Amino acid sequence: MNVLVLGAGQLARMMALAVKPLNINIRAFDVGSGNVVDPLTTGVIFGNLSQGIEFSDFITAEFEHIDHQTLAVCQASGKLRPNSQAIKVGGDRRLEKDLLIKCKVANAQHEIIETKADFDQALKTLSFPLILKSALAGYDGKGQWRLKNQAQAEATWLDIKAFFDGGEQGVKHAVVAEQMVPFDREVSLVGVRDSKGNTKVYPLTQNHHSNGVLSVSIAHHIDKALQAQAQKVFDSIAQELNYIGVLAIEFFQVGEQLLVNEIAPRVHNSGHWTQQGADTCQFENHLRAVCNLPLGSTELIRPTAMINILGEDNVPNEVLSVASTRLHWYGKSKRAGRKMGHINVSGNSEKQLASRLMDLAEILPEAAFDELKPYITAYQSKLI
Ligand code: AMP
Repeated sequence: MNVLVLGAGQLARMMALAVKPLNINIRAFDVGSGNVVDPLTTGVIFGNLSQGIEFSDFITAEFEHIDHQTLAVCQASGKLRPNSQAIKVGGDRRLEKDLLIKCKVANAQHEIIETKADFDQALKTLSFPLILKSALAGYDGKGQWRLKNQAQAEATWLDIKAFFDGGEQGVKHAVVAEQMVPFDREVSLVGVRDSKGNTKVYPLTQNHHSNGVLSVSIAHHIDKALQAQAQKVFDSIAQELNYIGVLAIEFFQVGEQLLVNEIAPRVHNSGHWTQQGADTCQFENHLRAVCNLPLGSTELIRPTAMINILGEDNVPNEVLSVASTRLHWYGKSKRAGRKMGHINVSGNSEKQLASRLMDLAEILPEAAFDELKPYITAYQSKLI
């Protein structure tokens, strides 16, 4: 079976590594060069998208900011999974908010801002503090502004206007202004839906972000009621989108309530722990759904955490001396803040996992992983 992945980053790479034993060959469309490449070697296989489509049984995507022309061509081939509309919703916060409202799932109150008048109106409707997010192409905390009070309003508007002016011409740019949610923690649900409508979800994962970018995810046995609440949201969104493949939903937890922050129509960074903590990893399950194969179990085998390696192309090899630790590099060139790899670590209990996480935090350079120790300390204290 041949599958073309739109995007040639680490997610396509990890899909390729996961499904080789199933005889599924992954080719990746590099949207930058327009070439279809081998996701592991980056060697060129085809010089254009059409050949990539022709020689694939199915097409999927590893990111949602794909130009609509490319999506239209892939959709027309009848091979694209999930469908182009689901991918577009993940790439435009306006469509995403419409979807959440349609599915009647709880989320932060918002206003759409395209003009100064919209901006002024939003400041009247919503109360401070606010977070403003670019509707398009905003990810990992980029294209975001935080507004604490009226005194910051003018400068923030000028910044947003400059962002609009500097954006792609001919595109209707907008910002979604949201009420800041005083969350207790951030969690995400990664799940999978097949073409017959069967769904399976992984346990909710607890996530920590540094500067708007995911830094640590922890998956352990979770409160049943909370899990059921998240699964209900997953099922309604996945059904509404007529979704095929892995879909991730990020939530804010406030008390016992989950509010959806955003959805990602793809395998997700907060699901990397499934490579060693779940019965079937998210990459394999995504391709199983895409290729009409039976879904694999999403059960947690043992508590597992993932630490992102951001902006570093080297960590002490000693991390591998910590039991049940695996190191995954993406083969990318170094750039500040860039996702370069991740570390997965498991324990037979949450306590053992926390202690192994602390061992890793002792080895990893503090300058690059400065929030790790305080986060694990806080996590450990909740286990006692
Ligand atoms: P996003 O790109 O929407 O995932 O936002 C990046 C991070 O900013 C989230 O993971 C949160 O830590 C924070 N954030 C985003 N929206 C809100 C909100 N409405 N209230 C509080 N924090 C938020």
